[in-house]
Amino acid sequence: MTTSPDLLKSPDEPPMPSATLGGESKRSIEQVALLLFITVPFVALLAAVPLAWGWGVSWLDLGLLVFMYYLGCHGVTIGFHRYFTHGSFKAKRPLRIALAVAGSMAVEGPLVRWVADHRRHHKFSDAQGDPHSPWRFGETLPALLKGLWWAHIAWMFDEEQTSQEKYAPDLLADPAIRRISRDFVFWTALSLAIPPLVGGLVTMSWWGAFTAFFWGSLVRVALLHHVTWSINSICHAVGKRPFKSRDRSGNVWWLAVLSCGESWHNLHHADPTSARHGVMRGQIDSSARIIRWCEQLGLAHDVRWPSAARIDSKRNEDGGRSRRKEKAAEAA
Ligand SMILES: [Zn+2]
Ligand SMILES: [Zn+2]
Repeated sequence: MTTSPDLLKSPDEPPMPSATLGGESKRSIEQVALLLFITVPFVALLAAVPLAWGWGVSWLDLGLLVFMYYLGCHGVTIGFHRYFTHGSFKAKRPLRIALAVAGSMAVEGPLVRWVADHRRHHKFSDAQGDPHSPWRFGETLPALLKGLWWAHIAWMFDEEQTSQEKYAPDLLADPAIRRISRDFVFWTALSLAIPPLVGGLVTMSWWGAFTAFFWGSLVRVALLHHVTWSINSICHAVGKRPFKSRDRSGNVWWLAVLSCGESWHNLHHADPTSARHGVMRGQIDSSARIIRWCEQLGLAHDVRWPSAARIDSKRNEDGGRSRRKEKAAEAA
């Protein structure tokens, strides 16, 4: 199902260097950093609504928010996800590096850790071993509510971390990628510094720098976090299931634009290496569009575009019944 290389190393080989912030031994520092990265932008997002009435939002702040949002979002969806995790296309070296950097600007943790977690998610999707299934605690309503919270945020604080050596040896073998992954704090600082720098220089004022930081850095990061995490929580709990997958992934149309096409999540689990997730008529998938542009520019090649026959072969005969009904049918 997934491209995850299952290359377990023999015990006598030297350990590969970790590409996670602080290495394996300083997990508590990472936990604190994670807590700050999650809570501070979220508080900013909560504060944004009342403040927006008082200050108004300048076009510059809004422009910075939208630009930085889609830079990081596409860095994650095209880079971290479709390219590094699933290998849905091959990239020339400059594009490979650019995607690693752009994705790191989304402040979603070090690249190699992101990829290792996501490969494990596909290997065990919605079964034991999945790092973030909303069905972890059961199928009753309280269990699902608890599970949604787990899939959205709480899983990241889990002590049990995915082995990078087991799940992402291909990335650890590339020194440049390992370095970009380990310099996660630098990319975070840069990502947060660009909006106030631009805002301050354009308006030539500290206030301009401050409002640009608020909207372009804090609110933007919070919004992107919640949209990304919604793919793990919402898209594994609700949505249409027109394609065959052994988990509960669903296609959620109202998240398509904000998630850069990633909320066509049922197709993604049915065909994980496909470069296009929104394969049906009218399904917006900006990530697929940009991959196409990169292909036309000669930066990407061997793109796994799904053929009509392949898409048809993945369809559910019943047009997307719920998993519960499927199970009932299996039991009958
Ligand atoms: Zn999923
Ligand atoms: Zn995936």
